[in-house]
Amino acid sequence: MLVMKFGGSSVGGADAFAQVARIVARARQQDRDVVVVTSAMSGVTDTLIAAARAAAAGDEEPYREARVALLVKHQVVAGQLINDGVERAALGRHFDERLRSFERLCRSIAVLGELTARGLDVVSGLGERLAAPLLAGVLRAHGLYAEAVDATEVLVTDDSFGAANPLMDETRARAQERLRPLLDGGIVPVVTGFIGATVSGIQTTLGRGGSDYSAATLGAALDADEVQIWTDVSGVLTADPRIVPGARTLPVLSYSEAAELAYFGAKVLHPKTMLPAVERKIPLRVLNTFNPDHVGTLIVRDLTEEGRKIGPVKAISVIRNLTLVNVTGKGMMGVPGIAARTFAAAARVGANVLMISQSSSEQSITFVVPQSDARRVLPALQQELGREIERRWVDAIAGREDIVIVAVVGAEMAGTPGIAARVFGALGGASINVIAIAQGSSEVNISLVVLSGDADEAVRQIHTAFQLERVGLEDQG
Ligand code: ADP
Ligand code: ASP
Ligand code: MG
Repeated sequence: MLVMKFGGSSVGGADAFAQVARIVARARQQDRDVVVVTSAMSGVTDTLIAAARAAAAGDEEPYREARVALLVKHQVVAGQLINDGVERAALGRHFDERLRSFERLCRSIAVLGELTARGLDVVSGLGERLAAPLLAGVLRAHGLYAEAVDATEVLVTDDSFGAANPLMDETRARAQERLRPLLDGGIVPVVTGFIGATVSGIQTTLGRGGSDYSAATLGAALDADEVQIWTDVSGVLTADPRIVPGARTLPVLSYSEAAELAYFGAKVLHPKTMLPAVERKIPLRVLNTFNPDHVGTLIVRDLTEEGRKIGPVKAISVIRNLTLVNVTGKGMMGVPGIAARTFAAAARVGANVLMISQSSSEQSITFVVPQSDARRVLPALQQELGREIERRWVDAIAGREDIVIVAVVGAEMAGTPGIAARVFGALGGASINVIAIAQGSSEVNISLVVLSGDADEAVRQIHTAFQLERVGLEDQG
């Protein structure tokens, strides 16, 4: 059994939908049971969120416009690809109902002047609830048996709105109950990505880009042989092709390499995608909807020979919109517990600490959090270390936003000496200043803080230094 997830650009318009139908039909011809997971059409989630935010701020124009624009966007695809008039009319009614409920919701957001995390999940998940019935209709028009399934019926999560965590046992039971009979009947379930619901049925989302995570979760729940992530690039590349045009496809990655890359900004996979796959040892494959014969990237537990021979450094990613927090003071030296209290304060406000680096002189503690978390972390630190500031043991607590983390990833870095030196050499040669550095104990990744303005050039320099533009070429040395 195969789970095939199609991302936003893979369902970006009528041509893309038709291409997806051909890919699914081909898998079915090979007699494989298939569960399809779909994202919203590209751009739709952004539009929905922007409209809801505008409504909360009192601007009702965007949601009214969005309702009409989204109705047209989906109807155009149905009009081009679905000949059956009855089917098209039913879909049209479905779109209209969903979008009217979106409009009602936005109206009440505007009246209240407040957008809760729970309300935002209902609004932002709407794109998938439009796309899944449309894709099921397109698959039927291509002669397949297909049925749209709303993930609120299948994917059970906790109530962490905006970043909900699937509950595996409950999801497994629901998936067996709801999806297995369809598969046994030769039907392709087309499940909404991104969304789920709590045990009591309240809709949640898994976070932006979460359809990858939905697919892996359903794959684990159904013991799939493979989970395929179909996107707009030929697999996981040595760097984001928008930064390095010569980036190459990585034929094989380990779960931990893929997880590090995703965690540090490689958008091609949601960072949590690997979690359910690791647990059940399900291989993931990243494939290109627009070049379906390309082998893409296989992500497995143990690296194959092919994966090992790439070299110690496999890929480089960048994560942006961060704040570097610096706690400094000569009097910190020898005062026990300042580091512990600093991180306890960050944890209390729910901050996600991406990187920590402490100078050995103990005169400063440096760590990196998302900008959105820094707004809570900085006041919490001022409060926690108030006494130390008064006594001038701590001189300053400062945040700077003009930085990024560049992550250099590869499992074979462990035990290969001199990698950090080569990274520094490459950056030094281009006069790029490294503000902080950290290496995880797993040695799968070295992370560097550099100025935002240096980010792309830093990635290109490291890419060149490790000859990643030659990955996969015959004469690779
Ligand atoms: P989808 O809509 O299919 O989920 P995304 O836009 O979420 O697709 O992810 C695919 C994009 O991720 C690519 O178009 C590419 O620009 C970006 N990307 C960033 N880093 C990488 C990388 N290392 N390998 C491949 N793609 C990457
Ligand atoms: N549509 C959602 C988003 O744009 C989820 C996804 O595409 O994976 O974030
Ligand atoms: Mg994505």
